[in-house]
Amino acid sequence: ETETVLHESANPEPHVAENYHPLPVVVAEGGGVWVTDADGKRYLDLLAAYSAVNFGHRHPAIVEALVAQLGRVTLTSRAFMNDQLEPFAAALAELCGKDLVLPMNTGAEAVETGIKVARAWGYRVKGIPSGRARIIVAAGNFHGRTTTIISFSDDEQARDDFGPYTPGFDTVPYGDADAIAAAITDDTAAVLIEPIQGEGGVIIPPEGYLRRVREICDERNVLFIADEIQSGLGRVGETFACDREGVVPDLYLLGKALGGGILPVSAVVGDRDVLGVIRPGEHGSTFGGNPLAAAVGRKVVDMLSTGEFQERARQLGAHLAAALESLVGHGVTTVRIAGLWAGVDIDPTYGTGRDIAEKLRERGVLVKDTHGQTIRIAPPLVIRATELDWAVEQLRLVLEG
Ligand code: PLP
Repeated sequence: ETETVLHESANPEPHVAENYHPLPVVVAEGGGVWVTDADGKRYLDLLAAYSAVNFGHRHPAIVEALVAQLGRVTLTSRAFMNDQLEPFAAALAELCGKDLVLPMNTGAEAVETGIKVARAWGYRVKGIPSGRARIIVAAGNFHGRTTTIISFSDDEQARDDFGPYTPGFDTVPYGDADAIAAAITDDTAAVLIEPIQGEGGVIIPPEGYLRRVREICDERNVLFIADEIQSGLGRVGETFACDREGVVPDLYLLGKALGGGILPVSAVVGDRDVLGVIRPGEHGSTFGGNPLAAAVGRKVVDMLSTGEFQERARQLGAHLAAALESLVGHGVTTVRIAGLWAGVDIDPTYGTGRDIAEKLRERGVLVKDTHGQTIRIAPPLVIRATELDWAVEQLRLVLEG
């Protein structure tokens, strides 16, 4: 009885449903790579809201675009056109080298949209018999939390007790292109993969995998859908993780950083022969493509079009890689890194990923564990080398105990 009361009074969020297990820090303010808690303690943010804050907290140029649009109009619905959506779509399509943009809000909605587009393309263009379209996905994937998306997750926590599940998906091992080729049938409409698996722990597939997937999809008349929601928009030192292998998918699924860390903005981007299969009335969203989101998204695309952030991620990523490598054998078993995105596996004798995250928090560094032993490092791309060094030094001190 006493224990329950104590627990409740210690919980700063007694009215929030417990679908997360947050670190014990209550953020009250943020700017750039730093956030401040309610007591004024500062923390270096090495999670960046799962890469949604790629440009740092409250980037001045994005805030300016937001405030300017707030003074004009914020929401029209797509029943009418607004003067922000077409310029945003044109800029994003150009960044992707594609024709069309279908705007949504969250990442999961972009994934759901990609699935619907692939199925419609399968029936209307490829000629798959009605109701039979299948999509190949990878083991260990994370694409979001809707009922259809968790239907093809192999994470028990994400799935169990949330069935019945949506059929139509085939799972193959990640990183194995031959397994994709073997799984394709006449009913296969698409292959849907993350070019680097984020929630899986920054799992980087073998070199050549994405190129081979592209070739197989071309040979077998199957769409290649790249979920770049976490990997895209500068994080890996290129605009897209697919760029690392010079590969262009049929559909890009984008989200997170597209909203500049301010608003939920997501999109599916593709050519007219694929994305053009969707007809008026078949799909939509009240908020998708709203003028406020479009103004913010356009600023984000402008910022990415100079290549400056990609270059930072490339250079600082090399710096971070060298620093993290020095910890291997000293509490770290493996480091996987692409640009400014690292999965760091902690030696279990030093504690779990969660243990390390909690101790880093005490030292003013915020990271998030994933899959037990892994901590993920994904700072805002505006971080400085000295700040990275300081953060890695805190990790070294935590591991030295
Ligand atoms: N796809 C990938 C690769 C993700 O990492 C995420 C979120 O972590 C999603 C989709 C889902 O995005 P959202 O949480 O905005 O629905």
